[in-house]
Amino acid sequence: MTAPLIDPFARPISYLRVSVTDRCDFRCVYCMSENMTFLPKKELLTLEELDRMCSTFIRLGVEKLRITGGEPLVRKGIMTFFQNMRRHLDSGALKELTLTTNGSQLRKFAGELAECGVRRINVSLDTLDDQKFADVTRWGKLAQVLDGIDAAQAAGLRVKLNAVALKGFNEDELFTLTEFCAARDMDLTWIEVMPMGDLGNEDRLDQYWPLSDLRKRLAERYTLTDLAERSGGPARYVRLEETGQKIGFITPLTHNFCESCNRVRLTCTGELYMCLGQEDMADLRAPLRSSDSDAPLEGAIRAAIGRKPKGHDFDYSRQAVDGQMTRHMSHTGG
Ligand code: SAM
Ligand code: SF4
Repeated sequence: MTAPLIDPFARPISYLRVSVTDRCDFRCVYCMSENMTFLPKKELLTLEELDRMCSTFIRLGVEKLRITGGEPLVRKGIMTFFQNMRRHLDSGALKELTLTTNGSQLRKFAGELAECGVRRINVSLDTLDDQKFADVTRWGKLAQVLDGIDAAQAAGLRVKLNAVALKGFNEDELFTLTEFCAARDMDLTWIEVMPMGDLGNEDRLDQYWPLSDLRKRLAERYTLTDLAERSGGPARYVRLEETGQKIGFITPLTHNFCESCNRVRLTCTGELYMCLGQEDMADLRAPLRSSDSDAPLEGAIRAAIGRKPKGHDFDYSRQAVDGQMTRHMSHTGG
């Protein structure tokens, strides 16, 4: 049997997040600049190469695959990839196939995703106000996303909303968004804005709404029960007793979650990032393309996991963004 992937801190790596494109039909202000230069096509892993990469990770013990981007559903032919991944669900090697999406293409693809064995999806949505949605996504239309969520639920997909907590932007929608999700039986996870990309440090600090404050405000209206459940990632969960829904908090800046980290991230060009908050990465495309055998790729994956760092260094505490990454979030897929 193939030995599973265990990092130097004895953490088994069972979760792979894969960015399948750097492109997107939105230009969210905290994620991309308005004029992005995207990668030339030849740099991208082909759909066949993505399949080989993911299948190798699955053979090495990855049980959960999250497809992200950029916007994964704008990648041409991506449904073929999902259809092919189904074989790993059917064999039992893969326990979960899921994606994070901005929701714009769900009307078109929700049914097919369900047929491919996708059961749950994350949809990113920060506001329920048309104008604010247009402002934060620059190019997005709220109605299209809401319609996409309807389509996903109608197809039987369980939807969780992810909202980036933005000071002065969606603070006033804390309860509206909570109630919107409760009415549709959706969980909601809040994400602290992270210092990614090169959009300027000041912007980041202005936008930073600590989830400790958000949680306090939520507790003024609801009874919060802490849930022990951890996903191996940065989310912590509470249940709102009044609605029964789960609310998640992703606080990479104020909490240390690294000790239970079980994940790595693959970019659309085949770079493996062992930690979202560190620059170190391994090129897996070269070993993949170097041979028809998966042996060089497998060796490169094992070597990379052997370098997975203990944790990251984001820190806003000194009113300057330390440990800031120059990568855009769309590069590693969040
Ligand atoms: N396009 C898809 C979407 O928006 O869901 C998938 C990719 S997107 C990069 C993944 C997640 O990262 C989204 O929930 C988005 O809100 C979040 N994100 C992007 N930039 C961020 C930042 N600077 N801080 C925190 N979250 C961010
Ligand atoms: Fe696109 Fe998602 Fe980034 Fe928004 S957060 S620009 S939807 S990749």
